[in-house]
Amino acid sequence: MMMATAELIAALPDAALVIGADGVVSAANAPAQEALQIPPQGLIATTLIRHSGFVNALGEARQAGQPVTTDIEIQGRPPRQFSAHLAPIGKGPEILVVLRDLTREQRIERMRSDFVANASHEMRTPLAAIIGTIETLQGPARNDAKARETFLETMLLQARRMKRLIDDLLTLSRIELNEHVRPNARVDLLDVVRQAKSNLMALAKESNVDLKTEASRSTLVAGDADELLQVTQNLIENAIKYGGGGGAVEITCLEQKGSGVLRVQDFGRGIAEDHIPRLTERFYRVSTQESRARGGTGLGLAIVKHIISRHRGKLEISSQLGKGSTFSVHIPRYVS
Ligand code: ADP
Repeated sequence: MMMATAELIAALPDAALVIGADGVVSAANAPAQEALQIPPQGLIATTLIRHSGFVNALGEARQAGQPVTTDIEIQGRPPRQFSAHLAPIGKGPEILVVLRDLTREQRIERMRSDFVANASHEMRTPLAAIIGTIETLQGPARNDAKARETFLETMLLQARRMKRLIDDLLTLSRIELNEHVRPNARVDLLDVVRQAKSNLMALAKESNVDLKTEASRSTLVAGDADELLQVTQNLIENAIKYGGGGGAVEITCLEQKGSGVLRVQDFGRGIAEDHIPRLTERFYRVSTQESRARGGTGLGLAIVKHIISRHRGKLEISSQLGKGSTFSVHIPRYVS
């Protein structure tokens, strides 16, 4: 009988263990051994899971002969949260414990609430500026024509910032909604680059940056042309905004091992290594002040990352302080 129970729990995908009448673990499957860092059998369950909720649940499951579910925390670094389901096997006294790891779910939940807090904060800043300006215009600056002009300018600037933020948030949510559907139209990256270049010519000129596309070749990928244009524009815009000090931005598309590659390189100040892995997080910026001053929302690279992931591609970022940065996007080739 014992043998059969061990075999049965070995076949379960979740962490599972069996506790005998003496309170000793008589079998633990591989996920349970891994999650709790224990041998397959022989330990006393309540010293293994030192959690009052678990001890109570075990007593209750035994006494009532009914399944009991409780949330528990396993000590360790970092501590992990599980939902534990304890059920008597047959008429008992053995108890089957199935553990479901809640760590990932809780992390996602935390990310979601962080996101709401960040987004609200980002909206409140321009809104507070607009309200402050209106109050000044109603009060002290009521009859000051010159101040009125300046204040209206400020209000327009802040209102535009809010609009950009809302547009970016909507874009992000639309892409996320469709992330599981892979776009597969035939797109030539060269056309995308040409379009992006023409859209950003004015910004480049204003910033004294030369946009170069000499090495680009026709490169067919499977994708969505509008979304790939957005990726290209976001990367070129960043290169101009943050790397424009180098005077030039080079955009190249080429084929490489079954993928189309789009590369945007600047020769500006570069990005310190510890920032690089975090750049695609929502609202992450190296300098919030600079990003705001340049009209950034902190969402551009998050949008880039989600579009690329929808295309089953990858983003590579390499940078050297003082030398510049290169953002490379790899998208699977179009197969007819
Ligand atoms: P933002 O709206 O702030 O531009 P992004 O998500 O597009 O948001 O970029 C996040 C941050 O990454 C920027 O605020 C900037 O600090 C940094 N960054 C992006 N591209 C570059 C670049 N080419 N050179 C230097 N820093 C960059």
